[in-house]
Amino acid sequence: MTDLVVQRKEGLYCPAGDFYIDPWRPVDRAVITHAHGDHSRRGNTHYLAAAPAEGVLRTRLGEIDLQTLPYGEVVDHFGVRLSFHPAGHVLGSAQVRLEHEGQVWVASGDYYVAGSNADAGEDNPTCAPFEPVRCHCFITESTFGLPIYRWQPQARLFAEIDDWWRANAEDGRASLIIGYAFGKAQRILMGVDRSIGPIVVHGAIEPLNRAYRAAGIDIPETPIATEIQDKSLFRRALVVAPPSAQGSTWTRRFGDYSDAFASGWMQLRGARRRRSVDRGFVLSDHADWPGLQRAIAATGAERVIVTHGYEAVMVRWLTDQGLEASAFATEYGDDDDELPGALGAAVAASERAAELVAESVSDAEAAGIVVPPEDAPVDDAGA
Ligand SMILES: [Zn+2]
Ligand SMILES: [Zn+2]
Repeated sequence: MTDLVVQRKEGLYCPAGDFYIDPWRPVDRAVITHAHGDHSRRGNTHYLAAAPAEGVLRTRLGEIDLQTLPYGEVVDHFGVRLSFHPAGHVLGSAQVRLEHEGQVWVASGDYYVAGSNADAGEDNPTCAPFEPVRCHCFITESTFGLPIYRWQPQARLFAEIDDWWRANAEDGRASLIIGYAFGKAQRILMGVDRSIGPIVVHGAIEPLNRAYRAAGIDIPETPIATEIQDKSLFRRALVVAPPSAQGSTWTRRFGDYSDAFASGWMQLRGARRRRSVDRGFVLSDHADWPGLQRAIAATGAERVIVTHGYEAVMVRWLTDQGLEASAFATEYGDDDDELPGALGAAVAASERAAELVAESVSDAEAAGIVVPPEDAPVDDAGA
């Protein structure tokens, strides 16, 4: 039995169907899981994506030859039956299910599932929630595939953001919250209490908001900060901006302000300091560690291939569970919500990686998960 998906220099390739999934080099036929820049690159001849991704894909990539398919609908391509299933990550994000000669493979792209038990209250409200798909082989992401990553309930997180915003507004200070323009910004806009004060956005976010609204997602109407004449309005405002705006001259218009960064990376000790912001809010569009485990188990797959993230830790854990596990080296994770700039570089650095594994090992031990000792730099384990 040949593999339905293999790794090539252009990206993940389906030999039977002669197409690529999220290729990082230009190809003839690209099946796209979602519109984040590292998964949907320019230069491919033909694009195929889930129907709800159309607006955001066109917003980001402009004129492309795009064919779309509603979730769950099947196309037959050279005998490979292909369908998209919601991944819960961003608007239009999809897992790709492939069926050929009795074999079913699912490539997850990026996905969001939080906690060890299903809870509709923890779904990402800006898109269709993750849907488990039974398969023989599951190609999973592992962006936050370490036991330290456990997201708190969304209601609690947004209460923290609201409290920070309310306190700033009462002091007459703007609240600048930094989050990625596609996905994170809309989570913030949808999750906060709109009664606290005005909400304004950076110009890079508004085109994506429009695509979300056009898809029927309840994103509030938000003026763009540069269009506001009456600057006194900023004193009670929540300002949502992408990381590129942080520390730029664009922020001067707000006068005195408090800033915060919203990202899964904020769970790391030191991440907030590295971003040099007043507050860090742990808000992610990726599965946390229990979510990854639950999502993988729900596929019933006996074989799992791990992509971008902590492949080694995840492969080891899966092998310990009696699964056949390996990794694909990909070029994902250098954009958008995954690795925020300098922090990403720091995470990639071996020193930081060692620290992460050490943190994860003590967490894993507390949770009763056995992480093999060779992954743990012993001197740092108690830090
Ligand atoms: Zn993504
Ligand atoms: Zn990704």
